[in-house]
Amino acid sequence: MQCPGESPGRTGETPVLPMNDPRQIAAGIVGAVDWQTEVSGFCRCPGESLHTHPTGKKDCRISVDGAPTIFCFHASCAPAVAAANLRLRQGIGKSSWELKLPGGVILRNGDVLQSSGAVLRREVVQARARAEGRDAGEQLVLETLKALAERFKPELFETFRWPFAQIIADSPLLVSERDAEDQFRTWLKLWPAHCHVWIGDIFSSGKPEHRTHFRPVADWYQIGPVMGNFTCGSSFKPGSFQRSNANCNGTRFLVIESDTLAKDEVGAVFSYLQKRLRYRLHCIIDTAGKSLHAWFDAPRNQLLEARLKAGLTAFGCDPKVFTYSQPVRVPGAWRDGKMQRLVWLKD
Ligand SMILES: [Zn+2]
Repeated sequence: MQCPGESPGRTGETPVLPMNDPRQIAAGIVGAVDWQTEVSGFCRCPGESLHTHPTGKKDCRISVDGAPTIFCFHASCAPAVAAANLRLRQGIGKSSWELKLPGGVILRNGDVLQSSGAVLRREVVQARARAEGRDAGEQLVLETLKALAERFKPELFETFRWPFAQIIADSPLLVSERDAEDQFRTWLKLWPAHCHVWIGDIFSSGKPEHRTHFRPVADWYQIGPVMGNFTCGSSFKPGSFQRSNANCNGTRFLVIESDTLAKDEVGAVFSYLQKRLRYRLHCIIDTAGKSLHAWFDAPRNQLLEARLKAGLTAFGCDPKVFTYSQPVRVPGAWRDGKMQRLVWLKD
């Protein structure tokens, strides 16, 4: 593996990097780095001793552009990785440095190298922060997360692969073969009893006569899956007749879907969220179309939500899932002769 600081003729020698080279600072914190690009490579996880599963060579990655980040597959090492990230950002962020990329482009401290090879300039990051009313440091973290997610994407789909048939086989409760009424009632049980839930078709919202589509869970239990093909991941205030974020009532799920990923692909994203990011997975629904929807606990706060959104968008999931009044498919309803159904359900 050629190191980024080397010229082609010097392969095999250990490159001597200048003291304020961010890769030198990184190596001072995590030890030797097997550089894969000018700015990112594999390293030993600072929390490796905390791993509860065997450690692979490519489990921990470090990058020095944007907001410098150490990123490990394992979840058990998170506190040690967070502490090392702090040291890394302090060390690299404080020094003023420049790297010359192949082709002569200069990457400076705070610039983000995109997967396309283009450089997102720190001035652009700062302008975006002002436009979004966001702290500049947090904007840099978000832009870095997008770039990291792009770099990590091929590995995600390999390492966390979870094809459709496997999802059904792995379900803690056998649900996919249940009939429509059972599907619907099983899904209703995910909601706390006091919740008012919307069920209808896309346009069953906005006028007073649509109040009948917003009902307590117990009502729906009696009515069954007959008032429309859609619901929302959020509950609504009693008396609502409009499906809007303003009428959402606190209880909500994050429903992950993708218009671009196939049923055999999107499971990798679900698995990553569940196993690596530790989001609680409630169910996976086959929409009776091309896609699957996964229902997770919503992020705990807006900061985590914005970060998750940055990553998920790069993975090919739709940012509209973060609109909590977005209609999604309800299990037990029929779509062109096929049943929308639960295929994975938590115990
Ligand atoms: Zn680790």
